[in-house]
Amino acid sequence: MHMDKILLVEDEDDLRSALCTLLADAGYLVLPAANGMEALELLSKEPSLVILDIMLPDLSGLEVCRRIRQDCCCNVPVLFLTALDSFSDKKKGFLAGGDDYLTKPFDSGELLLRTASLLRRYCIYLSEPERSNENWLIAGDLRVSEQFNEVFRRDERIELPDIEYRMLKLFMKHRRKIFSIRNLYETIWNEPFDHSCSNTVMVHIRKLRLKIEDNPSDPRYIRTEWGRGYCFYM
Ligand code: CA
Repeated sequence: MHMDKILLVEDEDDLRSALCTLLADAGYLVLPAANGMEALELLSKEPSLVILDIMLPDLSGLEVCRRIRQDCCCNVPVLFLTALDSFSDKKKGFLAGGDDYLTKPFDSGELLLRTASLLRRYCIYLSEPERSNENWLIAGDLRVSEQFNEVFRRDERIELPDIEYRMLKLFMKHRRKIFSIRNLYETIWNEPFDHSCSNTVMVHIRKLRLKIEDNPSDPRYIRTEWGRGYCFYM
């Protein structure tokens, strides 16, 4: 499972360790830093969020944030967590490149909500360019994403286990090519074939047909080539 990394910058030892526990319990991987220089060094670990105190012993949190944005050209979300609670302090935080601002004393539930929200926005932002290059394999009423396990049949999403998704993709990329059972097994499972594996392949073909064919016993996409294997038409 992927865990979001949070860079936590706080010079008060007790608060830093309490926050580490809170965030770790919420399922995040925490990179703790006790001052600004440490924080900038830990940026190389590519955190998905920075929780940043402002009053720090070396660089101020505002300066750390400016360097994250300007020197490191890094778009990671920054949440200021500070005792400075005036409007002008908040304004400085946002002008330095901060995304959110929470004042001490704070409610730990609120911190977790804001953390989750910032991470969610950041993940959507990061995944957008990738998604716009997304390629689809299309055949008849089937639409299959090449990058993600997303399969649609007449615009309805079909859930496929990874094995079946990879099998369908292989077929659609090599239409009219006859795949022997051995061929399919070695390509999809990536293991040496022996005859006990035939049944495994046939079971998955059957499951896949149930999901993509109108009539699985008279398939129009994945057809059986007797004695030779399977072939994708369309
Ligand atoms: Ca402080």
